[in-house]
Amino acid sequence: NAKDQGRDTFRFYSEHLTRQAFQNVLIDSALREAVAKKELHLAFQPQVINDSQTLLGLEVLLRWHHPTLGKVPPAQFIPQAERTGLIRNIGHWVLEQSCIQGSHWLAEGLEFGHLAVNVSAPQFRAEDFVAQVKKVLQDTQFPPEKLELELTESVLVRDTEALIESMHELRALGVMFAIDDFGTGYSSLSYLKRMPIDRLKLDKSFVDNIASDESDQIIAGAVLALGDALGVPVIAEGIEQDAQAQVLKGLGCTHFQGFLYGMPMYAPRTEVLLRSHKP
Ligand code: C2E
Ligand code: MG
Ligand code: MG
Ligand code: MG
Repeated sequence: NAKDQGRDTFRFYSEHLTRQAFQNVLIDSALREAVAKKELHLAFQPQVINDSQTLLGLEVLLRWHHPTLGKVPPAQFIPQAERTGLIRNIGHWVLEQSCIQGSHWLAEGLEFGHLAVNVSAPQFRAEDFVAQVKKVLQDTQFPPEKLELELTESVLVRDTEALIESMHELRALGVMFAIDDFGTGYSSLSYLKRMPIDRLKLDKSFVDNIASDESDQIIAGAVLALGDALGVPVIAEGIEQDAQAQVLKGLGCTHFQGFLYGMPMYAPRTEVLLRSHKP
């Protein structure tokens, strides 16, 4: 009867939640030790202008390889770290390591454009975030104008005034900003206009079927027009096939990132790429 069904449903959800909660606790405690145990690594993915003729920059993507959990994807552990606040420590580590690596490459005479580092909402919202970035730049001697911070629209929905102020403070040092996953969140266009933004990143979800889906083409065209109006280029994310690139080029897109142009690579392979691009 209905009562029993209700109970089964409850038991199903309860077991499901327990398993998920257990998994999260497992990930959380393992992640707390990951930095010290050297289980975290940076991967770098090329961003290119006009079909890989020019390297615009490298996006830094975090990788976690746990001895028993295996390779845990960022989509799994980043949201969890955002819930617990652990992302602030991890994000700081990523920023510091990125700047150390970047300074090392520059000292070797290797050019990479900029390093684009992802910053989560709780990290950007931390009261001392601007001071932290300044200190890391100073400690690592990484040129601020080679650092780009990627923020998603969701970072900017609350306390927008204060956050725009933080952006301007960092911009005064030379730091650049990209709006990541653009089109998936809610952005007030009047706020966008007041932000020191250098790039919009058209979300992969609009790129996936762009070769055949007319509404995706219309959305991409609108985002490109918005980029034009703001005076910033639009990077199309997640390009896997030439057909996607061709349609985007037809719409006026010139900046690309995706497996078609380069996979995320660890530092040694990235270095091989940079040496081959050396002017
Ligand atoms: P994101 O910042 O939008 O990064 C792009 C994601 O798309 C990366 O996934 C990248 O590997 C993937 N990607 C790039 N090109 C292609 C393609 O052609 N095809 C497909 N299928 N995928 C492509 P990844 O590395 O798994 O990261 C997922 C998300 O996790 C990132 O999305 C970002 O939101 C977050 N993340 C990664 N590293 C960090 C980090 O250091 N800090 C923070 N806060 N978040 C990070
Ligand atoms: Mg990103
Ligand atoms: Mg993205
Ligand atoms: Mg994303």
